[in-house]
Amino acid sequence: MYKSYKDVKQAIKSGVSAVEITNFYLKKIEENGHLNAFLEVFESSALEKAKEVDAKIADGNAGRLAGMVIGLKDNICYQDHKVSASSKILENFTSLYSATVVERLLAEDAIVIGRLNCDEFAMGSSNENSSFGPVKNPLNNALVPGGSSGGSAAALAAGLCTATLGSDTGVSIRQPASFTGTYGMKPTYGRISRYGLIAYASSFDQIGPFTNSLEDSALLLEVMAGKDEKDSTSSSKSTEKYIGENSDKKYKIAVLKECFENEGIHPEVKAKMQDCMDSLVKAGHQVELVSFPYMDYMVPTYYVLTTAEASSNLSRFDGVHFGYRSTNAVGVEATYKKSRTEGFGAEVKRRIMAGTFVLSHGYYDAYYTKGQKVRRVLQNRTNEIMDSADIILTPTTPDVAFKQNGVTDPIQMYLQDIFTVHANLTGNPAISLPIGKNKEGLPFGIQVMANHFEEKKMYDFCKELEELMGSENA
Ligand code: GLN
Repeated sequence: MYKSYKDVKQAIKSGVSAVEITNFYLKKIEENGHLNAFLEVFESSALEKAKEVDAKIADGNAGRLAGMVIGLKDNICYQDHKVSASSKILENFTSLYSATVVERLLAEDAIVIGRLNCDEFAMGSSNENSSFGPVKNPLNNALVPGGSSGGSAAALAAGLCTATLGSDTGVSIRQPASFTGTYGMKPTYGRISRYGLIAYASSFDQIGPFTNSLEDSALLLEVMAGKDEKDSTSSSKSTEKYIGENSDKKYKIAVLKECFENEGIHPEVKAKMQDCMDSLVKAGHQVELVSFPYMDYMVPTYYVLTTAEASSNLSRFDGVHFGYRSTNAVGVEATYKKSRTEGFGAEVKRRIMAGTFVLSHGYYDAYYTKGQKVRRVLQNRTNEIMDSADIILTPTTPDVAFKQNGVTDPIQMYLQDIFTVHANLTGNPAISLPIGKNKEGLPFGIQVMANHFEEKKMYDFCKELEELMGSENA
């Protein structure tokens, strides 16, 4: 069992080959088919890459991720491999190019082992919206793994990869990490290139890693971050080593009052939050409850803006350019209509309709423009808080993983994202740290948010917090 990349590196040092490591994971994947985490295993290309890595190890010129076996969320393109965003409308579509993140991982000798199930077009919080069936939580198969990157979280938690990639538009890396006891990080908007990520809501989407250690998370960020000519929203800010040695820095931590006092938080999650705050104060850090009186606006603003962007992004799936085409249609108009009707699932259709509505003539100002204005207000207040704090601390989710089919009302499902959409609305980096377990032994995370491009501070703080609290994941 390789828990983190440290174990893989140790194994390689003691003579285990990258091919053997890949075969180990291939076997684990096969044994865990019931989780439905993998949509496809890239056995031959993974083994081919592993052989290449072994040769480089022998020559002493292997990359920084040599032997790290990685799974990709099924919305990240890998040249000559299928990618479907877990949607029937893209079933059997093969990508012509690789995402920049994939190129950067391969250049450092990571081994890409397959593509992972997710909610269709990353829309969901439970991985129950996939066209290819739900994913099970490996910690308890009756529960959801979270979403939308449920396959990425489940595969890592079940030990089927050393690390996985997900995408996060509002919740999709951090909540599944919280539900599976793993680390899930969404970087600053623009820190990692989105080139080759199938777009959901372009001003919110970011790719990020799921890992079993903070060090692996920081290392993957280091490899993936940085300017990319192919994504004009990627930042040219220089990258750095994202996790440092322990320092005696004292942090100023803001806890959002309306969030901490939110009645929806399970008492066990709240108690753990309180524990963290107490330990931080005892260690000499400054913890302050600050007001963020906009909690009720977060989720509605998020859904107005993301559905608008989605309705535009998803208009390219018309039965002509990509993937699925209805066989029952005659003529162009009918081909568009029927292909989209038959190809998209119910939740995606709901989003496209809502988005088209908020962008339509007569409603645009009332919804879309208003939503953008609220986004600005949220950003301003967040910047104000960040002017005098290093870190914003909240629970990642109000509670632990819920049962499959346990949340059927879409609004209730949307409210899952109450603490996480903040970072996407404002573009801040945020990570979910596995911090506690409830009485039944189910994990939950704490969310650490930092100022734009202050990922290093975020990781360093997490290390300090883990040291104080003891790592759940150790
Ligand atoms: N649950 C949110 C949605 O459905 C967030 C998903 C995501 O981050 N991709 O939009």
